[in-house]
Amino acid sequence: MLKTYSAVVVGLGVVGSATLWRLAQQQQGVLGLEARAPINLYGSSYGGSRIFRQAYWEGSDYLPLLAEADLGWRELQASCHRPLLHRSGGLFVGPIRSGVISGSVATAKAGNIAHQCLTAAEVEARFPVFRADEHMEAVFEKGAFTIAADDARLQMLNQAVAHGAEIRFGSTVQEITLVSDGLVLRLADGQQVRTQKLVLATGASLADALIPDLVGLLQPRSVPIYWCAFKPGVEHRFSNFPAFLYELEDGRLLYGTPQIDNAEPGIKIGFHNHQQSALDLGTQLEPVSDVQIAEMSACVDRIFPDLIAHPYASRKCVYTLTPDEAFILGESKELPGVFYVSACSGHGFKFAPALGGCLARAIAGQSLQVQVPAFSRQRFAH
Ligand SMILES: Cc1cc2nc3c(=O)[nH]c(=O)nc-3n(C[C@H](O)[C@H](O)[C@H](O)COP(=O)(O)OP(=O)(O)OC[C@H]3O[C@@H](n4cnc5c(N)ncnc54)[C@H](O)[C@@H]3O)c2cc1C
Repeated sequence: MLKTYSAVVVGLGVVGSATLWRLAQQQQGVLGLEARAPINLYGSSYGGSRIFRQAYWEGSDYLPLLAEADLGWRELQASCHRPLLHRSGGLFVGPIRSGVISGSVATAKAGNIAHQCLTAAEVEARFPVFRADEHMEAVFEKGAFTIAADDARLQMLNQAVAHGAEIRFGSTVQEITLVSDGLVLRLADGQQVRTQKLVLATGASLADALIPDLVGLLQPRSVPIYWCAFKPGVEHRFSNFPAFLYELEDGRLLYGTPQIDNAEPGIKIGFHNHQQSALDLGTQLEPVSDVQIAEMSACVDRIFPDLIAHPYASRKCVYTLTPDEAFILGESKELPGVFYVSACSGHGFKFAPALGGCLARAIAGQSLQVQVPAFSRQRFAH
């Protein structure tokens, strides 16, 4: 006899983990399935740190989700003694009136998010490790924070289990079939499970055809990330180091996080919109090239003279892009009862508690089209 669940979450990156947590708070009989180990280098969610910010240059459509996510992160932190949220603040630097600056200010004003506008000279006075030319300006969001990413995601799973969820790692879903009284999942080891509802939070693998709804829409990309060490004797200058975005004159956008534990010393830095290449999901991630490392070193040398410009470590990670770089959430047309979510395009981690909440409410019957209309599949219908 097939084991039957009320809801199954497939893929336990940060979005699936948050969904499992929210579902387990809401109902009994919930299962999470993850193809790999709890911490691995293959999905998009893994690693030491992620940025949470609400003066969101990407637009004010995200404000309701950001508000719910902020509450969710606080709730998660309250459930755990380990520090998950590091109150670093967030500094967003760019050429005067550039997209990052004007977008951050516009969203901060629309959402009543506390922020300060700084001249280049004020940036260097307040954050002496940053260099900003006189044609730059900045927005500082005091309430932005740096999330201890792996720890936070594991705490979501702990909370899900504490509320009765079951979890299986090393468990790949290969096929979903609609049957008269729900859905049957076939796993790679030959086992099957039955469920009433399903959430697919499989990251870049959503581009593959477990459901046909998203075929051709999502583009998996590989993108490098780098770690740079402090020059000897100047570590103390980084005690006041915010998470940051830094837009260069040519539009390349850098992001980075401060050191929040000893496992990743120095700062983490990457390009958000540059050095990306198409990723074939069946292949291994390649090492970062010498040309890419040299390009990053030149940026670090210019912006952070107190860092050793040549990164001491680098590796490729996975981004998944939609055509408009916003998220996509919906219910499958072909397989009713299957909900999909991609917190894609390299900025979804911060939203996970809110996306998990939306999906749990969708499973309880509340329409996603009503909850998050901006992120519907319909926007690509043409
Ligand atoms: C280097 C980097 C830095 C980033 N920085 C930030 C940041 O500062 N702030 C921010 O908000 N966002 C950031 N992001 C984006 C954010 O991390 C992602 O949007 C988010 O992690 C996506 O999570 P996910 O759960 O949708 O996907 P994933 O984390 O990719 O999870 C999908 C999971 O599904 C599993 N899976 C796939 N297929 C199956 C199957 N058939 N059966 C079972 N399991 C399956 C995979 O093994 C994987 O674990 C960053 C991303 C990267 C790569």
